[in-house]
Amino acid sequence: MIHITSKLPQTGTTIFTVMSALATQVGAINLSQGFPDYDCPPELIRLVEKAMRDGHNQYTPMAGLMPLREEISIKTEKLYGGYYNPDTEITVTAGGTQAIFTAICCAIQPNDEVIVFEPAYDSYAPAIKVMGGVVKSLELSPDDNYAIPWDMVRRLITNKTRLIILNTPHNPTATILQQNDIDELCAIVKNQDILILSDEVYEHLIYDGQTHHSMARYEELRKRSFIAVSFGKLFHTTGWKMGYCMAPAHLMAEFRKVHQFLVFSVNSPMQYAIAEYLKDENTYNGLAAFFQQKRDHFRQGMAQTRFELLPCAGSYFQSVKYHNISDEKDTDIALRITKEFGVASIPTSAFYSRGTDHHVLRFCFAKKQETLDKAVDKLMKV
Ligand code: PMP
Repeated sequence: MIHITSKLPQTGTTIFTVMSALATQVGAINLSQGFPDYDCPPELIRLVEKAMRDGHNQYTPMAGLMPLREEISIKTEKLYGGYYNPDTEITVTAGGTQAIFTAICCAIQPNDEVIVFEPAYDSYAPAIKVMGGVVKSLELSPDDNYAIPWDMVRRLITNKTRLIILNTPHNPTATILQQNDIDELCAIVKNQDILILSDEVYEHLIYDGQTHHSMARYEELRKRSFIAVSFGKLFHTTGWKMGYCMAPAHLMAEFRKVHQFLVFSVNSPMQYAIAEYLKDENTYNGLAAFFQQKRDHFRQGMAQTRFELLPCAGSYFQSVKYHNISDEKDTDIALRITKEFGVASIPTSAFYSRGTDHHVLRFCFAKKQETLDKAVDKLMKV
């Protein structure tokens, strides 16, 4: 037998798969993984069905269906002012994750350093490692609401720093970048050969009338950024694995060199459907209000429990501290609450490469109101 070993973790062993499997096994309410338990808009399904019946079942162009890229360009310019040429600056991908992996693949060379803020979405570091890059992680803490210490960022930068990865709104912390973060970032990267990968998959899930500081808004950042976006979050269709990447033409040309051999082109009928669906801006403009209502409902319920709620400015995650309940490790209490009380969450130490445990759990509130109510009833007993 020939043995091979990749540099990556064993599949099925991450806490995300463990928690979901446990939730199924013990019949717990699953607020661990981030996906809705309600269906996507029926109109979208009708459009996919129509596209299939109309015979749109073969490859689309490698970069994606042009009418879809045009709609993405219009939407981006309308919302953030930055113009992306649909021909050369937008590529449709198989979800946000593929956009992220592809951007990392083309942006870095072996030994290049990549700055990652932790807690971090779990796909960044593996992609960097596969490419032989070096992860320079900077840990953020709930004690100051996960603010980025920009003086520390400055100290981390060397002549090997090639890429900074940002995520706004942020999974798992539910924070969003603020204007001062943008100002600091602009000052740091100006006149440097540093690229940015901006994970904006939750771009529309921003609450209390706050602004989404997309890299597309700021020329100093736009000109060096890959922006990864997901239709899974936008249309409650995480299982479709549809998304896109935007970047200036010279960066997108490199992105496509990888994309063409990684996936070539993505799902055709869904591209036709989404191109049509996106024409109505209400499809995305109402999303913040939709999720804000869920956030407020869940927070009201959770306020009656012994958990302490952390702020939630964006995304569909709510983090809580449990110091009033126990001083167990976050993984232990997450497993115990799933087994004993029937609600699954994610321990946020899973998002730190060193397993740093701030005693914080993450719940996903992209669920039906009745699911959230049932979960709160159970969590009240903890
Ligand atoms: N980035 C973040 C921060 C996410 O939370 C997710 C989904 N969990 C993704 C990227 C990936 O999105 P997709 O499902 O479209 O690949």
